Amino acid sequence: MRLVDSLERPLRDLRISVTDRCNFRCTYCMPKEIFGRDFAFLPRAALLTFEEITRLARVFAAHGVHKIRLTGGEPLLRRDLERLVAMLAEIEALDDLTLTTNGSLLTPAKAHALKAAGLNRITISLDSLDDAVFMAMNDVDFPVAKVLAAIDAAADAGLSPIKIDMVVKRGANEQSILHMAQHFRGTGHILRFIEFMDVGNTNGWRMEDVVPAAEIVRTIDAAWPIEPVEPNYYGEVAERWRYVDGAGEIGVIASVTQPFCGTCTRARLSAEGELYTCLFSGVGHDFRALLRRGAADEEISAFLERTWGRRADRYSEIRTASTPDRAGSAVRRKVEMSHIGG
Ligand code: SAM
Ligand code: SF4
Ligand code: SF4
Repeated sequence: MRLVDSLERPLRDLRISVTDRCNFRCTYCMPKEIFGRDFAFLPRAALLTFEEITRLARVFAAHGVHKIRLTGGEPLLRRDLERLVAMLAEIEALDDLTLTTNGSLLTPAKAHALKAAGLNRITISLDSLDDAVFMAMNDVDFPVAKVLAAIDAAADAGLSPIKIDMVVKRGANEQSILHMAQHFRGTGHILRFIEFMDVGNTNGWRMEDVVPAAEIVRTIDAAWPIEPVEPNYYGEVAERWRYVDGAGEIGVIASVTQPFCGTCTRARLSAEGELYTCLFSGVGHDFRALLRRGAADEEISAFLERTWGRRADRYSEIRTASTPDRAGSAVRRKVEMSHIGG
């Protein structure tokens, strides 16, 4: 059954967070001052089991979801993730099963195991090729070379085309844009530049720290001319560009300066089984409670139909239409990115 929300947007993508923990402390996502030693992460019993996740995924797939992305926190911190991948890969309605990771735990063996289990593709986050810049952003002194090795491992395992996601933050890594573009041109990997977003309430977001996608496009175009490419599918968030000289493709995700709520088909399931119908939601819808009190699939379906049917979220459009400032972003309580996975 195809489900549409109150603005006629279908449900097509599901992002599943498998853990709220991470071994990085990216300043734009899990700043150390907040996510310190005393931070209360979810206890193990609170996390959905692989069986629970798969059961929900089947219900979602029956309502139009055809793409699933596993995320976190850092999803590879979840033990035996390939077992979950194998379980999800059996859902026939899915035509895309992918994963977003910081790459720190992506060894060649892990990459092969994920591929063998049925993972189609992978996205690896990398914010700079300069160790000093990257370490300042991940805030745990994690070196660039290990992420590059993870990218090679993913390519060897056949998880291509690989997407490399770079969050661009003014004053932090904007000077890395051209170096990153140069490095990944001609490799077949797709580098995507993401505007720094005001997700959550802890990352100190300010509009002046956002490098607009249009500026990124101009910077790259001046070095290597690029031209726009048609979207792959309805609701694709990245605006696609290709190098005129044939050296491949890049993407920009302009969630702040050019919001795409009108075609937003994504739902997000937190590690504890709450469904968020917007990245900027303050409250989730508790699917775990249904699962754990023994609800039948019909009841879970009905809850999903109600939840999605009432959806009217268009946070980014509204934020951009009003005057964006740091106060505006702080007053509203929003779920943290590490909780639902971006
Ligand atoms: N830990 C994994 C990783 O970093 O790839 C997966 C989870 S992470 C929350 C998913 C993506 O969200 C990453 O590419 C990350 O860079 C991005 N992200 C986190 N905070 C962000 C922010 N404030 N603005 C834009 N992107 C952000
Ligand atoms: Fe961890 Fe990913 Fe957030 Fe960085 S962006 S802190 S790697 S969850
Ligand atoms: Fe979708 Fe919410 Fe982002 Fe708009 S702000 S694109 S509705 S997740």
